[in-house]
Amino acid sequence: MPRPTLRSALAALTMGAVALAPTVGLGAGPSLPSATDAQVAQAAAAGLSLDGADPTRVFPDPIINGDFLQYTAGTLGGLAMPYLEGLDELANRYSVTREDGAGAFTHADICTYVCDLMEAGEIQVLDARGAIVDDDGVRKILSAGGRELPVVTLTAPDSADHPVEERLDLYFSMSIHGSERAGAEGGVRYIEDLLIAFEAEQLGEEPLTGPKVLTAGDPTNPDYAEYSVTEVMQSARLHFIAPNPDGWADGDRNDGRGLYHRGNDNGYDLNRQFPTLGWHNSGGQQYNSGNENETKALQAFIEDYLGTPQGAADLHGEFADNVLLAIMFPAGQFDPLALQGQYRLAEAIKHNVNTSVHPGAAGLLATIGMGEVQPAEYHTAYDAIGYDDSGFQGDYLVQQGILEMDHEYILSNLAPSSVFVPELEQVHVDTTRALLDATIALTLKAYGVGVDVPAERADRRTPGLDYTVDMDGARIGYVYDPETITDEDVENEPPFGLPQADYASTNMTYFEDVQTVMANVTMEPIEDVTTADLSTFDRIVVADDSLRIDDVDGWAALEAWTRAGGDLVLTDSALQALEVIEAVPAGSVERVTQYAGEISEVDRDHPLLDGVGGIIRQTYFEVPLGYRMNTAPAWFVDADAWTGDVAATIGATTASMDLIVTSTYGNATDDVVLAGGEPTLGTMALDEGRVTIFGAILPDAGNVGPNTHGLADYAVTYAGNGILMNILKGL
Ligand SMILES: [Zn+2]
Repeated sequence: MPRPTLRSALAALTMGAVALAPTVGLGAGPSLPSATDAQVAQAAAAGLSLDGADPTRVFPDPIINGDFLQYTAGTLGGLAMPYLEGLDELANRYSVTREDGAGAFTHADICTYVCDLMEAGEIQVLDARGAIVDDDGVRKILSAGGRELPVVTLTAPDSADHPVEERLDLYFSMSIHGSERAGAEGGVRYIEDLLIAFEAEQLGEEPLTGPKVLTAGDPTNPDYAEYSVTEVMQSARLHFIAPNPDGWADGDRNDGRGLYHRGNDNGYDLNRQFPTLGWHNSGGQQYNSGNENETKALQAFIEDYLGTPQGAADLHGEFADNVLLAIMFPAGQFDPLALQGQYRLAEAIKHNVNTSVHPGAAGLLATIGMGEVQPAEYHTAYDAIGYDDSGFQGDYLVQQGILEMDHEYILSNLAPSSVFVPELEQVHVDTTRALLDATIALTLKAYGVGVDVPAERADRRTPGLDYTVDMDGARIGYVYDPETITDEDVENEPPFGLPQADYASTNMTYFEDVQTVMANVTMEPIEDVTTADLSTFDRIVVADDSLRIDDVDGWAALEAWTRAGGDLVLTDSALQALEVIEAVPAGSVERVTQYAGEISEVDRDHPLLDGVGGIIRQTYFEVPLGYRMNTAPAWFVDADAWTGDVAATIGATTASMDLIVTSTYGNATDDVVLAGGEPTLGTMALDEGRVTIFGAILPDAGNVGPNTHGLADYAVTYAGNGILMNILKGL
């Protein structure tokens, strides 16, 4: 059908073709657009895209739609069609009615993709409880509330030049928490944006809102990526799913309830169910990674049907925050190249959101009483929202090797949740456009679409972004610890009757992995410090207990080497050696347990912090390493005993830290001052040599368990790894 121009569409609205009434309130929504002329004009003046402010779209933008997108069919919900009907309409407009029959859009129940594999016995995660056969003989996988899970896929028709089987796969989770509407509101509009633009390009027409170009990051940055929508559709399959239809449908106006729910209709939080590395919370059935159809079907789709996608985004919403969007690094075991990929993705998303959305959004939200809104920022989940747990979808995705970030949109949770505020929802939608553009474009570039990548990185495991650290000829030894921590010795068995994964964890793996990004370096394990020729090393690292603290001869050898000019690096429990080598008085080194691996009172001007950006607090992820929250070990030196410089301290107590961070919500958490303030990161001269300490970075994994789904070898964060690599460089 011919589409009107944006101008004529908005004119039709403002001439009273439909009744207009501002609506901000709980309860039954209107059936007609709610935004007034003034609201639309204000949104336009604020720089919001209004790309989707065309009332003839299947899913017009929130600023004119007048309500949340409804899941259930009915008459309420503004201009937009209900989700499932709308998907059929998108198929009508952009697929099946095309003369050549080849469209860019499909949607089908997830069973279409995974039930065959299940029946063929090729899927382990989805057992027979997952699928049912209805009265018409149709197989289905249904949510707890009996709803299907449609998978929406966008990709160009198959062609000899661009075969489908060579395309990348990207997976987008829209609002796994039903009460966090931003992801679904944005994702569904984004689907239509791409279809409109792609069809226009294919027909040689100019889309209503101009050509669609997906960019990632700052054009002056070497990572900058830019693709036309046709290039994207010919290079990738984009899969969108609303994983929690129950939580969405619960909020529909049409069924009279109007309150969205976080979990499914069994009351389980689906975002605690994924098989993630390390400590497994067994406090309730929602942590049973084998029991809900929704999450089992998603895993089967991701692992067994897609064979592990390359890129992803998991869209959530948070309560009050001072940042427009919290871009969160997921938890897991990531080598420095993977962390660099995540960091660059975070930078690109931050740039996109802060240049295209934040300036206007901040002003617009202030006019409706939302207060001051700071730009988007990236950090770990714990640094952003103040808690960790097991079973997060985002952690699972990155632990599969997928380039992914989790996202928390401002004010898309308990408040306002079921209350529709057109301006706020428009900001959520435009933020989604910016972050998905960045995610798609950067992932394509990372995997070499249209660019040359080194052959050794053009695989599915590691993004191809160029990253090498020149180590200036450093000669580094690390004391080798042959011990591993295995599932044979775990104290607590898996809950819920789940099988125990095999593991043999060792932090020595870090030293093998870090070398893959280093140039101009020699790095070797030292099996026995009393017999090795230590003079061949500039720097020797003792990570945690890789040299036992009672090894008198070993420490004597290292002390002599250090005092003669060596650079000794001690991490975690190895800080105790400061007493052994008489760098500090006996009794000066202590151990604490904290919520996560973390530091505080960071001196950003210290050389060890060189080049480490963003929020710096969490240094290692505790959960993948087998430590439940509040049991993560860290070591420090009494401030009175330490005579060196201090790059970061640690608090002797952490009970209040969670509250402090939550109240500041993701901004400047490194300024938090705790009781204690004891050195944990810094350097100290020792005669002709030097000792560097880092008390919370590479501890041996914890084996209390349950560690149902395996255990990481190490779990450094982006910030922790940045500091550790500076230490290895000898800064
Ligand atoms: Zn969430």
